[in-house]
Amino acid sequence: MLPNVRREDWYHTATNTNWDPDYVDEEELFPPEMSGQDAYDVPEGGWEAWEETYKQTAREYFETQHEKDGSVYSVSSAMDQSDLPHSIGMGWEDVLKFHFAAVPLLERAAVTAESQYARFAPDSSWRHMAQFGAMDELRHTELQLRIPHSFVKEDAQYDWAKKLYHTEDWASVAARHLFDDFKASNAVDSALQITFAFETGFTNMQFLALASDAADVGDIEFSEAISSIQTDEARHAQQGNAIIEILNEYDDLDRAQYLVDKSFWRCYKLFAALTGPSMDYYTPVEDREMSWGEFMEEWIVDQFLDSIENTELEKPWYWDQFIELVRKGDTSHYMAGGHYHWRPTLPIAPPGVTEEDREWLEEKYPGWEDRWGYKWDRHAEMMREGNEDKTVADDLILLCDLCQLPAIHGDPDREVNRPRAHEHEGEQYYFCSEPCQWIFENEPERYKDHQSILRRFLAGDIQPPNLEGALNHMGMTQDNLFERGIDFRAPEWGDDWAGWSPPSADSPTAADDD
Ligand code: MN
Ligand code: MN
Repeated sequence: MLPNVRREDWYHTATNTNWDPDYVDEEELFPPEMSGQDAYDVPEGGWEAWEETYKQTAREYFETQHEKDGSVYSVSSAMDQSDLPHSIGMGWEDVLKFHFAAVPLLERAAVTAESQYARFAPDSSWRHMAQFGAMDELRHTELQLRIPHSFVKEDAQYDWAKKLYHTEDWASVAARHLFDDFKASNAVDSALQITFAFETGFTNMQFLALASDAADVGDIEFSEAISSIQTDEARHAQQGNAIIEILNEYDDLDRAQYLVDKSFWRCYKLFAALTGPSMDYYTPVEDREMSWGEFMEEWIVDQFLDSIENTELEKPWYWDQFIELVRKGDTSHYMAGGHYHWRPTLPIAPPGVTEEDREWLEEKYPGWEDRWGYKWDRHAEMMREGNEDKTVADDLILLCDLCQLPAIHGDPDREVNRPRAHEHEGEQYYFCSEPCQWIFENEPERYKDHQSILRRFLAGDIQPPNLEGALNHMGMTQDNLFERGIDFRAPEWGDDWAGWSPPSADSPTAADDD
C-alpha cells in the first residue's frame, strides 16, 4: 500500500496497465476475436478512456466482500441453530425451488463471461473491474448452492439446484441457450448483452423484487442472501455503461443497438418465464406486494430508459408492443398456465389458483378474468370431478426456435405475441413472437442448427415418442417421480370453486387454445 498517497492519486496508476508488449504483438496478446477491438470503430488507444463511476481497489474489495459474506452466513447459521422450520409454506417453496434450479449455475456461467473480460477486454481498468466481477459470480454460485443443499434432506426437489443445468429439461435448455448466446462473442459484444442488458435491469428484478417478497414472507435467509448478491451486481454491471460511453464517442452504434435490442428481448422472455409466475402466482397472495408487471415498469422499463437516455442508443424497435405486454402481464400469465399444465416437466409444485389469487390478479391486471380465468375454471372443474390427471398435459408444446421457451398463444388480439412459422433453407422454424423471429432472421447461421427439444423429438432422438419419453429425456425419469412437479393443493383447490358460476357462453372454449 501507499499510505501517504490519497487513493484518487494512485488509483489510475494502479489500474492503468495498458502497456505496449515487447515480446509478442498486441494482437497475439489480445486477439481481436476475443477482445472485440476489430468489431467497433474505436481508434487505437480509444478504449483507454474506459472508466467506471464507482471505483474499488483490491483491498477494499476483499474487506467489503468479507463483511457481506459475514452477514449472510451469520443469518444462515442462526437459522440452522434455531428451531424454526425452514419451510415457510408451499407456494413460497416454489419460488425458492425455481430460483435455485435456475440461478446458481447461471451464476457459474457468468464467472466464465467475467473472466473473459478480465483477460481479454480492450482496456486495463475494465479488466481490473472484471476480475472482481468473476469473483463476485463465484460467490453467488457458492452462496446459492449452499442454501438449497441444506434443504435437500427435507425435499428432494431442491437437488435441482445442482442438477437442472446439466439436464435437457426445457427450462435448462432455454437458460443455457440464452447465456451461451451472450457469452459466445467477443468481450465487448458479450458485456453489452450481459452487463448492460441483463444485469443493469433484469437481475434487479430477480434479486430485489424477490428479496422484498422474501422479507414479507419472513424468509430472512433468502432475502439476506439475494440482496447481498445484488450489491455485487450493481457494481460490476457498471461495465456496460462504461462501454457504451466509449462507443458513443466513436462508433455508429448500429452493432450495439442490435445487440441491446436482441438481449433485452431475450432477457424479458426468460425472466417472464422465471420471475413472472414467481411474483404473480407462487408467492403467497397475502405477501405479494407489487405485481410482476408493476415491478417491470418501475425497475426495468424506467431504469432501462434512464440508462439509454444519455447515449445515442434508441429504444428497441418493438418497444410499444413490449410495454403493452408488460402491462397486461401476458407472458407471466401464459407461462404460469404452462408451468401448471406441464408441471411434470418442472422440479416445482406449482399451485392451482385460488379465489383470493384471482381477485388479486384481476385487481393488478384488469381483464385477467376474461382472458385467463376460463382456463383455470376448466382445471378446477376437472379437479372437482376427480380428474386430476386431465389437468396435466399429455402432449408436447411448441417451443420457440429462438428463445426455446414455450410458444403459447399469448394474445389473440395482436400479432406480436403469436406463434409464427418461417421457412429458412427449406426448413420450417417456429417462433413465439415477432422479435424472436427478427433475431433469427438477422443471424440464421448462428441459430439454425440448434436442436431444440421438439426437433430432437421429430428426429426420433426421444424415445418412446410421447410425453413419458420426453420426460425421461429431460431427466425426469420414472425413478425420480418424486422430483416431478405436482400440484400441492390438488385436489382440494377445485372445491374453492364449488359455488362459482361458469364463465359466460361467449368466453373462449377449450378448442381455441393450448
Ligand atoms: Mn451474479
Ligand atoms: Mn453478474
